[in-house]
Amino acid sequence: MQPSTAFDLVRNAMKNGRVPHAYCLVGDPRGDALALASRIAALLLCEKGGDVAPCGVCDACRRVARGVHPDVLSIGPEKKSRVIGIEAMRETFLPWASEKSFAGGWKVGMVLFADRINASAANAFLKTLEEPPAETLFLLLAPSVDPMLPTVVSRCQKIDLSRGRMPPAEPWRSLVGGILAAHSCESGLRVAATAARLHALFARIADEAEAEVSEELAAQEAADPTAWSPPDRDERGAMVSVKAKERRQAIFQAIQEWYRDLLAAASAAEAGAERPTRSSLCFPEHRDEIVRRAAKIPVRYAMRFVDAAGKLQEKIEDRNLPDQHVFLEAFSYLR
Ligand SMILES: [Zn+2]
Repeated sequence: MQPSTAFDLVRNAMKNGRVPHAYCLVGDPRGDALALASRIAALLLCEKGGDVAPCGVCDACRRVARGVHPDVLSIGPEKKSRVIGIEAMRETFLPWASEKSFAGGWKVGMVLFADRINASAANAFLKTLEEPPAETLFLLLAPSVDPMLPTVVSRCQKIDLSRGRMPPAEPWRSLVGGILAAHSCESGLRVAATAARLHALFARIADEAEAEVSEELAAQEAADPTAWSPPDRDERGAMVSVKAKERRQAIFQAIQEWYRDLLAAASAAEAGAERPTRSSLCFPEHRDEIVRRAAKIPVRYAMRFVDAAGKLQEKIEDRNLPDQHVFLEAFSYLR
């Protein structure tokens, strides 16, 4: 699920007064899952409320973003043992959960790396999950629910951000990474350069698809020259188009993954956490550049960028808008 889709789901639940007691956010607890958790907390605590929440500018929103809101508590694994043990649960998290909120509204308890809650802590937590305090939302963040106690998982509504994350095919991943690492939206010239370079990839894809179809047809003819008859123009065009579309898919995917990497780095920066590990990124070779950029980008922008990147494909493939034009428009604000 896309982070924006997941966020809309929570927003709708809230509008209808049907917020569950707990969500399990499956994703990177230092990246996309953390960004979503922080946004959900801001949604519940924003002083403006209604459709403008989270406004991003009120005191509550700022405190949530900086990780210092008194009605948000997050716990994670201890450095030494790398687990969330009974002490942290019984002495910090659960007492906090049973108390009234400071601001008189919602409170949000986050468990980062909920997959590392040990058995005794999980059992203690389970009792609270079974009889949850009013206006308290628990957000359990984990890369996978597999190691978690099934009884805990079953009491949470699951939001899976990890599905559909596959590295885009090479050489397209590397090529797109190179283009986006050089991108800047600060001048029209640079934006045009990005759009032109992406357009050039599309042109290369069209040529490759054309060549591949010619090769395949030649091989078919060579295999059985008497039975073979050449496809007509439409058939040949359709064959080329299928091959080109597959490759373009990798380009769209790579662009979106780039902005997911940026989001992961922006969330880590905003939460004051360590920068994302190379293995958690789709573009590890550009980590320094991604981290440098992310430091200047608020998480809510980074989320919008992921969204906007996801819409490129629909515009170009389904609505048939000219790719260079779509890229030009998008990269004038994508940073
Ligand atoms: Zn606000």
